[in-house]
Amino acid sequence: MSPPATVFLVGAGPGDPGLLTLRASELLGTADVILHDKLIPEGILEDVRGELVDVGKIGGGAQVPQEETHRLLVEHARAGRTVVRLKGGDPFVFGRGGEEAQVCAQHGIPFQVVPGITAGVAAPAYAGIPVTQRESASAVAFVTGHTHAGTGEDPPKSEAQLEWPALAAFPGTLVFYMGVRSLPRIAERLTAGGRPPSEPVAVIQRGTFPDQRVVRATLADVAERAAGIGAPAIIVVGPVAALHDELAWVARGPLAGTSIVVTRARAQASALARRLRGLGAAVVEAPAIRIEPLAAELPDPSGYDLLVLTSPNGVARLLELVRDARTLAGPRIAAIGPGTARALRERGIAADLVPDRAVGEGLVDALRDVPVRRALIARAQDARDVVVDALRERGAQVDVVSLYRTVPEPLPDDARAAALAADWATFTSASSVRSFLDAAGGAPALRDGPRLASIGPVTSTVLRQAGLEPDLEADEHTPSGLVAALVDHART
Ligand code: SAH
Repeated sequence: MSPPATVFLVGAGPGDPGLLTLRASELLGTADVILHDKLIPEGILEDVRGELVDVGKIGGGAQVPQEETHRLLVEHARAGRTVVRLKGGDPFVFGRGGEEAQVCAQHGIPFQVVPGITAGVAAPAYAGIPVTQRESASAVAFVTGHTHAGTGEDPPKSEAQLEWPALAAFPGTLVFYMGVRSLPRIAERLTAGGRPPSEPVAVIQRGTFPDQRVVRATLADVAERAAGIGAPAIIVVGPVAALHDELAWVARGPLAGTSIVVTRARAQASALARRLRGLGAAVVEAPAIRIEPLAAELPDPSGYDLLVLTSPNGVARLLELVRDARTLAGPRIAAIGPGTARALRERGIAADLVPDRAVGEGLVDALRDVPVRRALIARAQDARDVVVDALRERGAQVDVVSLYRTVPEPLPDDARAAALAADWATFTSASSVRSFLDAAGGAPALRDGPRLASIGPVTSTVLRQAGLEPDLEADEHTPSGLVAALVDHART
């Protein structure tokens, strides 16, 4: 039997992808298998080549049992596969990395530890709070505030292990992980143990993420002030917490404090979501549609003088189906908008024609003076026929090939509730409207729900047909145009 491969216990940092270490980044690129938690920086797993296995949980949700994670570590390493066990923050700070290292040691599996930036230091730092400070804090304690909510243990195990009087007497900053739910209790016990009610506290939710939130309070009023804060959050107790008032340095984006639903299909949602988050919005991902590639028989493109592409998905699928890239050299290539043109460019194809207005009518206008004898329209099933009809009217022979279709995807209950409670819902296509309405329980459910932002007139019409008036329509009918419109609206 060949010797087992190495297991790397790797910290992913607290959330900002820029805080991933070089070593972690390098290992992510080379690992055969990545066993990862839920709460890891966005985007860092997009380009990895290894197999991804999600062993995480959110809040109190269902989790892969720890024993199963142990089993997977051993199994993959024994099969000779290099494993990255990727954890939020640092693997050895409330990350159960120690236990996983023990499992490796017990099974004779070589392992290495790659420390990460822990949330207990990074979240305060991004809130302008140094956890030590020359005059006011010469020690810092990392404490778990987890109370095993819902397990019926009373008092909860880990809290029973906490020496509250000793903690209260600790001569320095207290940093609580996993403490949001027990925040009232933490404040109460520390006060009972002798910390003054006026002691500064800061609660930092999603620290280092674009939608980081900070609540500044005292032990006396933190339970009340931070009532709206959910996990993940770090609680800082001590005089240093007050430095936030002076040193907060993260700029609030123009969409800070705004929650926005992204209804695009998952494959496309991430770019829009990322852009919105970057501007400070809290994004609710409600991917109500899924892209399903169709086993289309693609006619030889070289037989046409015009090839029309109407979406980035269409471009991706076309390139999967095309047998020989050189057949694309024949026809003039038209892209309906900048996103489609970009998707082409990323694959080494320069569109010959991109209309100013990214809708079918815009493309018809742009094609007005272009001679067309035979056109191939490569698009989604059930798309609009504006371009097809206009070209046929001009006497062109038009073939249509359906490359993919969009399939409604049911929303889990919590996603639906979050979506209905948001400030805005964004719609980037007619199909996103239809599927989201289905998933949300019909138009009536949306009437008192989020305001509606539409990418352009076609999408707006579909909303109106459902009896819903869009509150905003983008001037430029692209995802960037939609984002710009939301920012404009927030500024006024
Ligand atoms: N190993 C991780 C901690 C895992 S325990 C680390 O070193 O950071 C999970 C807890 O970490 C959460 O309940 C929360 O208290 C904290 N946490 C993780 N990421 C956070 C973030 N971005 N902002 C605030 N708290 C975070």
